[in-house]
Amino acid sequence: MDVHVADHPLIAHKLTYLRDKRTDSPTFRRLAEELMTLLAYEATREVRVEPFRIETPVTATTGIKLSNPKPLVVPILRAGLGMLEGMVRLLPSAEVGFLGMQRNEVTLEAVTYANRLPDDLTGRQVFVLDPMLATGGSMSDAIHFLIDRGADDITAVCLLAAPEGIAHLEESLASTNVPVKVVTGAVDERLNEKGYIVPGLGDAGDRLYGTVD
Ligand code: URA
Repeated sequence: MDVHVADHPLIAHKLTYLRDKRTDSPTFRRLAEELMTLLAYEATREVRVEPFRIETPVTATTGIKLSNPKPLVVPILRAGLGMLEGMVRLLPSAEVGFLGMQRNEVTLEAVTYANRLPDDLTGRQVFVLDPMLATGGSMSDAIHFLIDRGADDITAVCLLAAPEGIAHLEESLASTNVPVKVVTGAVDERLNEKGYIVPGLGDAGDRLYGTVD
């Protein structure tokens, strides 16, 4: 599994404000979106393209365009929604599917509670969005779900990752031969006993949309 840490001062700058507990929800949402657009640029480096003949005002030439089927973008509900706009700004012709996953706060295991995805993903390139790669449970379940439906190239995009989450993903995907890549803004120190990333940014869903309990 390929892990790409997008090392750029603008990414680190936006992440710092996201981490800061004084940052309010509207600012957090805007920053998460902007950060996602920067990560999208890195994540789509190997997006599938095909040659495209055009004529400029001067001459005929060959450029490229996105191949069909277009990439599928899958935000994991609810926090992944905060990354969607930032992603489709760069990939407006992508299709969007949704996966609802929730963490059991006692066992820390991921439970799938909703999905709105094409049944057949054969040959599809998929970008999965989840801000926090913490234990790696939801991301691993989501990726297996997509592979079972035929996806053959998967990029997980996260604002932050924990070493434990990366290790879990690597282990749980060891037996698959589908290429999986992780693109993240940073790899933090560790997880705490509640499964939060340290130093992290807290609960991404709550910081984006407020507390629901
Ligand atoms: N989910 C979050 O929102 N934050 C963490 O730190 C870990 C999982």
